[in-house]
Formats: sequence, structure tokens, C-alpha cells
Amino acid sequence: MVGFHIENFGCRAARADGEAIGGALLAAGHHCVGQLPEAEVVVVNTCSVTAEADREARAFVRRAHRANPEAKIVVTGCYAQRAPAEIAMIDGVSAVIGNSHKALAHEIITDQILTNRFAPSRANNISPRPELVSVRALLEGSTPAGSVPVWADDRFAHSFLEATPLAPGAQTRPNLKIQEGCGNRCTFCVIPLTRGPSRSLPRATVLRQVENFVAAGGNELVLSGINLGRWGRDFASASGNPRTTLGLLVRAILDETRLPRLRLSSIEPMDWDTELIALMAEFGGRRLARHAHLPLQSGSDDVLRRMHRRYRPWHYAEKVNALLRAAGEDLTLGADVMAGFPGETDAEFEETLAFVRGLPFGYLHLFPFSPRPGTALHAAAPVDAVALQERMAELRALAWEKSRAHRARFLGRALDAITLHTSAGLAAPGRTSALTENFLPVEVDGLLPANRLVRVLISGFTQEGSLQGSLQGSFQGSFQGSFQGSFQGSPQGNLAAPIAS
Ligand code: SF4
Repeated sequence: MVGFHIENFGCRAARADGEAIGGALLAAGHHCVGQLPEAEVVVVNTCSVTAEADREARAFVRRAHRANPEAKIVVTGCYAQRAPAEIAMIDGVSAVIGNSHKALAHEIITDQILTNRFAPSRANNISPRPELVSVRALLEGSTPAGSVPVWADDRFAHSFLEATPLAPGAQTRPNLKIQEGCGNRCTFCVIPLTRGPSRSLPRATVLRQVENFVAAGGNELVLSGINLGRWGRDFASASGNPRTTLGLLVRAILDETRLPRLRLSSIEPMDWDTELIALMAEFGGRRLARHAHLPLQSGSDDVLRRMHRRYRPWHYAEKVNALLRAAGEDLTLGADVMAGFPGETDAEFEETLAFVRGLPFGYLHLFPFSPRPGTALHAAAPVDAVALQERMAELRALAWEKSRAHRARFLGRALDAITLHTSAGLAAPGRTSALTENFLPVEVDGLLPANRLVRVLISGFTQEGSLQGSLQGSFQGSFQGSFQGSFQGSPQGNLAAPIAS
């Protein structure tokens, strides 16, 4: 049994994959090490959403190889699926496991990579045969270099990583990934190629995972997926199946389990149906976090049309307004916004700025357009580089302004929060990281362990723009009441932090 290190890149769903691979390796008897030089196996879980994401992954592989030349470096994730041959050629890589085979990663590592015996493996029929290499890679004439084995194909038969039992540990608020892949074809997006069509985790499995998490002492769980709002549609399409929607699943979690707090990660605007929005009215601020992330990408009708997005700006605004009516104005609203989509004119970009100004966003994730191999726009003429920089700068300034205005609304108010793992730098002056129920990072005076449900009186901003505050003297019990009074007599005060763990 060996020590392994996992480095995760990319979105929440990708992080959930990394956590699941780590859980499976632990269950197989291996152990996790924090430092690269101590690891015998380094798993690099990559993202490929932009050229920059690819570059970061390559740089990390090289750094890991320099830091630990003896380690077996195994590269998986979206970049490994999109361009396995490219990765196989990086110095130090021992194996490439695409998303199509990542559910088998722990077996491949244990049975084959560590033993150096590459042979078909029991019923899974996994092997490093060249015919399993991505058909796309072969068509492009790029086959794996040397003897580096590659597991990747276009069938995605071994791609859904059902999380190993979740418990509050390294991650206080773990992701439960309940949906994989995407059936849409947005013209800029490589995800359908790297993760295949939409598939869902069965309802019973989701409920069992949630119950196990609660039994392990968990307080907040994040439901995540690549296109989360599509959960259950693949079941519904099989004839005779009852209607399955994300709204029904969320209601089942809230009705049938004792989970104290559920948070929903990104959901496409048109998937916020009346059922899901009604749940915000019924449970928002109590057991359902008042936090909604709706990818926007652009506020221009024409750009959205060229992107092949399934909504227009007015649809988006309608959904946001319905959510605000249901959850109230304490809702923290987030969005992804892209600058420099091919052909985006100054006027179209101004439409995006005006649209964003008009809605109460609490934060924005900003991206410059990045042409992705295999997508419709791979060879499209880019927006002028200087104009792109200027647009990104304008969006960053607007995002800061919106975030500050949203957070300022809570000065002097008490908010429910959950404590997180606190960095040594923040703990030194006696502060703890926390995240409010409505997704605001806050530094709380005093040292508290992670995974406490607390109530924080917001008193101001840190220099970095997080909120800061102090414990309000009485502590909110968890849903089961297990934390009632557990810190009475020792309220120490304030915390803040990045939203990490
Ligand atoms: S909805 Fe569009 S942007 Fe989102 S994952 Fe699917 S194809 Fe990509």
C-alpha cells in the first residue's frame, strides 16, 4: 500500500471526482499524503475548460516530476480525456486515465500501475490497449508516446464516480455529485466531448449518501453536477418511469433526511423550474441555502444565440426575479460571464455590462473566451487582444462593485454560518473561517473547529473584502440540536476566509 497525493483542478464537479478517487484509494488501503515529495503516486485531476487550464495542468505535472522523480504520476480528468496523447508525452507521466475510465482509477492504479503489469483486468476489461485510446485522438493522428499506458475512449462506460461515503473531514462541506456529462452543444464548450452525455445518480443512492453524511456528523452538503438541472431526465426518458426532476429530488432530501443544510451548485437558468423555485420559498434560509448560481455567459441576445444557449436575457431576468421573490433579497446570486466571444462587438459587450448592472449579483466568475479543440469555434477569429483585456478589466471592476454592495447590506445583521478549516495564518491572530448560509465568506473572532453551525454578527470588512464578525453569544443548533450551547461561555469573536473547505 502506498502514499498518494491528489491535485485537483477545475470546477466543483471535478473536485468531487478527485474526492471520490481519493476515497476509493483510501478504501483500497492506500493513504493520503499532503506533501508531493512523500507521495509514491501523484494523481493530477485536470480541467480543460480553457487553454490556460491545460497550461496549468502541464506545469503542475512538470513541477511534480521535478519535486519527486520517483513518483508515478497519473493524469486524469477533462484534459486527460480531451488530449490523452498530448499528456502521455509530458516527461514524468506514468499513465493517463480519461474521464471515460476514471471510475476505475483506483483499480488501475492498484492492480496495474503500481505492479507494472498491464493486462486486462477482471470483468472491467480495462487495459492499456491502443484501441481504447480516444477515437478522436487517433483520428487526429496523435497516438500515445512511448510505453505510457492510456485508458480513454468515447463510450464513457466507466465515467460516473459514485462518491464513496461522504463525511465531514478534509472538506467540511463536501460535494455530492449526482449528475455527470451534458447533452447540450454550446458552441464554445468542450465539456460534452470530455464528459459524454448526461447521466444521473439514482434517487435511492443520493438519499443513502445524504443519510450517511448526516450520520457521520455532516452539516452542509453541496449538490453538484456538470449540468445539475438535468438530473433525472435520463430516468424519465425510459418509458414507464415516474417523473424525476431535480426539484423532486431536493424535496425528497429535505423531507426524508435530517440534513441541516443543503446547497445547490450551478444550475442553468431554464432548469430553475417553478418546483425548484418554490422550494426556495419553503426552505430558503433554513435548510436550503439562499444561494443560486445561474450561468449567464452574456447579456446580449445575439451573442447568446451564437453561443447556442437555450435562454435569452429576459428569460434569465425572469428566473432571477422569481428566485428573489421566493428566497428574498438576502439571496446571493452568482453567475459565469464570458468576455470576448468570437464576433462580440463593443455594443454587445455593453449590453452584457448593462444587464449585469441591472441585477443584484453577489459575485461573478469571469472568463475570457478560449478556443477549445473539437468545438465549433476552435478556429474562429478571436476578439482583439487589447479589447479583450479591457473588457475583462471592466467586468472585474463591476464584479467587485456588485460584490461589495451585496455584502454591505449585511453589516450590523446576524447571519447563520458554518465554520470551515482555518488556515494557520488566520488562526494565528485568533480568527476562524466561516461561510454564511447565503454564501458570504466571513472571518469570525475566536478559534473554532470546522463544521460548527454558528450565528455571526457582521461588523465590517476585512482588507481583502471578506466580511468579519463575532459570534452572537447563542449558537444555532444543528438540525438535530447537537450543537446547542456547546460553546457557551467561550465566544471568542471573529473570522473570515476564502471559501475553501
Ligand atoms: S450547458 Fe453548455 S456550457 Fe454548460 S456544460 Fe453543457 S455544453 Fe457546456
